[in-house]
Amino acid sequence: MSKFLKVKCECGNEQNIFGNASRTVHCSSCKAVLAKPTGSRARVSGKVTKVL
Ligand SMILES: [Zn+2]
Repeated sequence: MSKFLKVKCECGNEQNIFGNASRTVHCSSCKAVLAKPTGSRARVSGKVTKVL
């Protein structure tokens, strides 16, 4: 459950996020929301390109 995901934002920026993030994760480039906590695991709104 505690995996890292590589997520690609619509702006083209890729960043690693924690698979069960406990708070909202924003893109470091455009500040779009990439993941939101939904209880046990994060809901990813970007495109997951890799599970690390
Ligand atoms: Zn972005």
